[in-house]
Order: sequence, then C-alpha cells, then structure tokens
Amino acid sequence: METLYHSTRSSAQVVTSKQAILAGIAPDGGLYVSDQLGQTKIDLARVAAQGYHATARDVLQTLLSDYTADEVAACVAGAYGSNFDTPAVTPLTPLGADWLLELYHGPTCAFKDVALQMLPRLMSVAREGQGQNIMIVTATSGDTGKAALEGFADVPGTGVTVFYPDGKVSDIQHLQMTCQRGANVAVAGIRGNFDDAQTQVKRIFANAELAERLAERGTVLSSANSINVGRLVPQVTYYMDAYAQLVKRGAIALGDEVDYCVPTGNFGDVLAGYYAKCLGLPVGKLIVASNTNKVLTDFIETGTYDRRRDFVKTISPSMDILISSNLERLLYYLTDGDCERVAAWMAELASEGRYTLPADVMDRMRETFACGFATDDDTRATIKSTWDELGKLIDPHTAVGKCVLDRRASEGRARVCLSTADPYKFSADVLAALGTDTSGMDGFACMDALQALTGVPAPAQLSGLREAAILHPSVCDQAEMLGFVEDACTRVFS
Ligand SMILES: *Cc1c(COP(=O)(O)O)cnc(C)c1O
Repeated sequence: METLYHSTRSSAQVVTSKQAILAGIAPDGGLYVSDQLGQTKIDLARVAAQGYHATARDVLQTLLSDYTADEVAACVAGAYGSNFDTPAVTPLTPLGADWLLELYHGPTCAFKDVALQMLPRLMSVAREGQGQNIMIVTATSGDTGKAALEGFADVPGTGVTVFYPDGKVSDIQHLQMTCQRGANVAVAGIRGNFDDAQTQVKRIFANAELAERLAERGTVLSSANSINVGRLVPQVTYYMDAYAQLVKRGAIALGDEVDYCVPTGNFGDVLAGYYAKCLGLPVGKLIVASNTNKVLTDFIETGTYDRRRDFVKTISPSMDILISSNLERLLYYLTDGDCERVAAWMAELASEGRYTLPADVMDRMRETFACGFATDDDTRATIKSTWDELGKLIDPHTAVGKCVLDRRASEGRARVCLSTADPYKFSADVLAALGTDTSGMDGFACMDALQALTGVPAPAQLSGLREAAILHPSVCDQAEMLGFVEDACTRVFS
C-alpha cells in the first residue's frame, strides 16, 4: 500500500511520498502529512534485536512506502556508511543516571547530518522518473548550509548552492563551507546578514523568468529545509535505535516506557519522536527543551502560541527560533486531522502573531509532551557540571536539554537526552563555560585549548579543516546572487 500525503491545511490534493519529498512544502503553504501514520506498527522485538541500518530501512519503508525495498536499502547504505565516524551511527552513552544519544557523528558534527545525508538520496531516487535536475538553494546562518553541502555533494541529478553572510559565521563554519568538495556544489559569502541572504533566496525562488529559463534546460530549484518530510522521517530511526540500545544493554525490558528530552528549535527533531510513538515505540514523555527563546515552553504551559516577543541571540544559536514550523504537523494529528482548524490557527499566527488552542487539544498534547527552558547562564553551568561531575563534554544545545532534564523528577522511567552537536563545533562557548578566558582566541586556538584542558579529542571532521584548501572564495553583492545560482546550474548540469 502506498503512503499518501496531503497538506496539513487541506486534504483535497493527495500525493505520493516521492512527490511530497520533491515538492518540500504543499502548494497552500501547509506541510505534508499522512493519515496512515500509525496504521502500521513497528515490531518492537524486531527493532530491539536489530541494528541501525535495518531499523532505518523499516522506518523508511513504513512511512515512504512508494520507494521500493531496493531503493530504500541503497539510500540507507549510502547515507549511513563511512561518512559517520562510528558504525553505531548514533551511539548511546551513559550520562549519570540517564543516557546521552550522540547524534553528532556525521560529516558536519551536528544532528542535521542524520536527515541531510538521507534527503538528497531520497530526492535523487524520486526525480528519476521525471528526469529533471534539482538545484538546492539555501541561505544559512552556519550549520544547515554545511550539512546540506555534505549531503548533496556528488549526488546524481542534484546540485547545491549555499549563501552565508560573510564575516558573520564562525571561523570554523566559514572553513567548513569554503573548503567543501564536490563537483556539484557552489558556495558564496554575501555582503549582508542572514536575513538579507534569506530574503534574496526567497526572491530567487519566486522569480518566474528564472524558473522558465531553468525549466527549458530541465532544471528546477528546490530547498532542503526541515519541513520536508524527507528530513523528518530519517530522524524517527534514532528514537527506535536508542530504545534498542537500552534493551541490549539491559537498562530496560522490552515494552518499558522511555522518556526523551530534545533540545528544540523548529520542532522537527522532537516531532520525529512523536512519529516513533505513533509507530508503536513505548515513549513515556517527550520533553521539549528550549533556550531563552522559549515560545514553545510558554505554549505548552499556557496553550497560547505567541511569537510577539524579542528574538534573543543565545549560545545555542540553532535553537534561536520563534516560529517552530513543524508544530503544524502535531496540531494536525492532535485534532484528528482537522485541516480547517489547523489552517485557521496558522492564518491567525500569520496575521496576529499568536493563536490559542482549546483545552481538550492541549490536554492531549500534555499527555505526551512536557517542557522546560534554560538560559545561557543555566547552559554554561550545565556544561561545567556535566564535565566536572560526569566527565562528559557536551555542546550548548545538548546542555539546554540536560539542564531541563535535571530539573525534572525521573518518574521511574529510563531517560534519554538527545545530543545534537559535537562540543568542538562550539569550542569557544564550551571552553568559556569551563572557566577559560577566550578573548582574542580564534576557533582553532579554542579547539586546541579545549583539547588540552579536557583530553577529549577533537573530531577529525573539524580539526582536519586546518589543512584544507579553500575552494570557494567568492563573496558577492545581494544583487549578484541570482546570477550566481544560474551560473551554478549551467556549470553543474551541462
Ligand atoms: C537544528 C538544531 C537543533 C534544533 O532542531 P529542530 O529540529 O529545529 O528542533 C538543535 N541543536 C542543533 C545543534 C541544531 O543544529
């Protein structure tokens, strides 16, 4: 049976999972969801006995069933091979009485690799029937761009163009992007900030003349952002695999419930945990951990989602988000698929900046979701105490999760804290949290000092950048971005 998808805001137009992955967002602005979610359950005993690859294949085959078994197997083998620095892909390690799920062993040292190593392969297979070339265009404030570059590099039929704000990403992030290899990649700094880059990218997508010129040559533009169902589905796997690792270690018995604490921005990662629960994983609570931009904490506590507040820049920048796009999918499922109500709330969010859910929907949400937040000071204190007391080095995003988890009573269940980035990706903030004055130190100096202080080795993916050659020196004006994309299409697809 094919899994069929439609928009969260209307069920009128139904598409296959391949079509949903190629389109990214539904034409009415909604997100693709399937009413079949949860109809087919996973076999828990089977999951507990098998490894990451086998579970990834089961998850993909269930949620994206128009892909053939061979296609799924090829995607999984390609996405989670030697590009991860451990065969476990996402290893689970002890964290005091709790557990740390290390999602940062991919090529860019952040959890987005788990999804962005898979999405390009899913897109590449989906486009085979259509014959079009796909150029991914992304504006990045640092992390997503690199993960997209690594994911799409040399994937047949695809190309990727990334714009970053010149001078406004960290030394290491800058090197990660400008040293990117691959015959189908293009990278440029732009004179402006992230919002300028984002605005121009939206204009490029909306430019009908460009679309027409590219279409004549068989090329379409697409995006790789986290609302694509092809990014969500691969993340379901590690919730199940973490459960399997707990069973194999004897930490839980088959069928026991487990809590997961998730440092959250766009609500994608934690929503994948909800999908795992729908598929039959015994999930106790999903704990939504926010930084000072605690729009989700306030929402879960009060029932009102209110984005009308100041945006705060924190030391966990990948969670500095005021509109958590993937929440729309949860609203759909919590209302048993009431597209009209979801569409009305989203319209209210767009026009008023807020919406309020009725008590019965919030009660349903709180059956599964708990919440909490951590300030930057809390985050730094957690990095320090986790190192001092447990000998474990964690990044600021993970520390937000750990801080929120530590404040909760355990309720007797095993608890997993999702770790979303390698600490060396944020060397300066981690080093400062441990008490070192980092003023005047560049990225590599912080990396060296952190290594000397802790004895924890920096990952080769980051330390190796010191010797890497800069392949993409371009910096352009905002007005030149469109031409840059068109040139990249010509170069990559000719
Ligand atoms: C993107 C990101 C997050 C937030 O993930 P969402 O899916 O947006 O909730 C957390 N930590 C790190 C390191 C990230 O890069």
